[in-house]
Amino acid sequence: MENVIILGTGCAGFTAGIYTARANLQPLILEGDLPGGQLTTTSEVENFPGFPEGIDGFMLMDNLRKQAARFGSRFESALVDRVDFSEGRKILYAGEKSFEAHSVIIATGATPRLLGIPGEKEMYGGKGVTTCATCDGAFYRDMDVVVVGGGDSACEESLFLTRFCSKVTLVHRRDELRASRIMAERTLAHEKIEVIWDSAVEEVLAGEDGKANAVNIRNLKANDTSNIPCKGVFIAIGHVPNTKPFEGVLELDEDGYLVPEQNSMVRSSVPGVYVAGDCADHAYRQAITAAGMGCQAAIEAERWLAEKE
Ligand code: NAP
Repeated sequence: MENVIILGTGCAGFTAGIYTARANLQPLILEGDLPGGQLTTTSEVENFPGFPEGIDGFMLMDNLRKQAARFGSRFESALVDRVDFSEGRKILYAGEKSFEAHSVIIATGATPRLLGIPGEKEMYGGKGVTTCATCDGAFYRDMDVVVVGGGDSACEESLFLTRFCSKVTLVHRRDELRASRIMAERTLAHEKIEVIWDSAVEEVLAGEDGKANAVNIRNLKANDTSNIPCKGVFIAIGHVPNTKPFEGVLELDEDGYLVPEQNSMVRSSVPGVYVAGDCADHAYRQAITAAGMGCQAAIEAERWLAEKE
């Protein structure tokens, strides 16, 4: 029986690993199908405190992994697909394998929704297609960019990008924004933002350097196509939290995010089970906030285990 099992190797999982390992709990960290999490798909991270020159996303995650390992965290590759938290049990199943622990920290992250169009995957992460304006916006200074979506994220990203970019074209598939009224009004009023309604981005086109250079869009009402030159394509059509194994076991909100207990950021409804990072956070979704939640979850787990003894 493990003291602590941590699910996920993003900022939240590794930070929980560092803290629980330093508390001498020898945590077992289970790595899913994207070791290192979302940041490994970003080229440079400029907003993680402590790195005045920025740091490569992959390197940051590799450093966090080494830091967790240095204090005794152990790693195993296993994609948990089912859990049993009934009657005080904490059993995690990954295909044929099973793991049992006194406490569990769930830091399984979220996956940005993508469009599934030609060119998108090929240019994702460093070649012009991205899902995070906060992370990558500054790389598009004085350039034209396209944002896809019509919710709060798309509006927020569009407004954020106006600080750097010469023009932001927001492409939305309907004729009204889903975003909250205040965000929608700000977006529509901004002189640098042009909204193209009733349209779907159908393809991302590469320039000679292999990086995004334009998008092809289709007007869904007129059924005609056009082309928008742009150096960046920001896809903001929502995230899918990686919480399927916890359906029916822990409380999830209507979008599938894990819901912590009231008055706590990280305590789940099951004693000894904690949540951290993007699987439980649709408001901030930052590397540093995920790391903060990982730290909180680790301290909570440590205290809970000490009380149990
Ligand atoms: P969202 O509200 O689900 O909006 C997703 C948008 O993407 C919708 O406009 C949707 O179009 C569009 N979309 C979805 N799939 C698409 C596809 N395949 N092709 C083209 N467009 C597609 O997601 P979100 O904007 O990420 O927001 C998620 C939650 O976080 C919301 O509750 C939001 O209020 C909250 N949030 C709040 C803030 C803030 O308050 N500052 C900031 C960000 C997010 P349709 O409209 O046609 O469905």
